[in-house]
Amino acid sequence: MTTAQEERTEDELRDLAERAGRELEDAPALEVLRWAVDTFGERFCVTSSMEDAVVAHLASRVRPGVDVVFLDTGYHFPETIGTRDAVDAVMDVNVVTLTPERTVAEQDAEHGPRLHDRDPDLCCALRKVRPLEAGLTEYQAWATGLRRDESPTRANTPVVGWDARRRKVKVSPIARWTQDDVDAYVAEHGVLTNPLLMDGYASVGCAPCTRRVLEGEDARAGRWAGRGKIECGLHG
Ligand code: SF4
Repeated sequence: MTTAQEERTEDELRDLAERAGRELEDAPALEVLRWAVDTFGERFCVTSSMEDAVVAHLASRVRPGVDVVFLDTGYHFPETIGTRDAVDAVMDVNVVTLTPERTVAEQDAEHGPRLHDRDPDLCCALRKVRPLEAGLTEYQAWATGLRRDESPTRANTPVVGWDARRRKVKVSPIARWTQDDVDAYVAEHGVLTNPLLMDGYASVGCAPCTRRVLEGEDARAGRWAGRGKIECGLHG
C-alpha cells in the first residue's frame, strides 16, 4: 500500500488539512493540487458543477485521469449536461456522475411537485447534499472551485481546510482567484465552459433555481433569487 492510499484517522486528516491550510495559503493552484494528489492519490477527487472545467483542467495537468465528480440532480439545464458530456469526451479525466436516491418523479410523488419552490433546503438536501456525502465516502479529500470573490458567503474560503461535516480534507485551489484570473486561464488553455455563462448567467445551478444576473449583482445573485437562500448546503 502506498502512502497515497493509506488509511488515515480523522485526527490525522484534520492535522493534514490544518497544516496545509497554513503552508499553502499563498501557493499557486497547481502547487496546491500537486500536494493533494501526492498526499491522497486515488482518494482525492475534484467536484464540478460543470459551470466550467477550470479546476478539472488544473487537476488533470497534475494527475491525468483524475476523478471529476458531478452531481446530476435531475434538474440541470441541458447545457450543463452537455458540458459534462464534453468534459468526459475530450479531457483526460474520469467523470463520475452521482444521482440522488430518488428520481424527480419519485420525489414529486413523495413530497408533491416543485419541492424546490416550497422547500428548497429539503430539495437541496435530497438532491445535492446527501448524494455528495454518499459519493465522497471513498475519498479522503475533495476539491472545489469555490472562490472568495464570488459572494460574501465565500469570502473566507480556505485554500485547504477541514470539512467537519464529511470528515474530509477540502481543497479550494482557486480560492484566491478572481473572475479575471478564471477568464484568463480559460482563454489561455481553451478550457470548456458552460454556454450559459455567455448568456447572462454568472453562476449555473439547477434550472428552476437559477436566473440571469443583473448589472452590478454578485455572481451568485441569480441562485434561489427571492427565496431567502444563497447556498445549497454543500459548502456550509
Ligand atoms: Fe432542488 Fe433547486 Fe436545490 Fe436543485 S438547486 S436541488 S432544484 S432546490
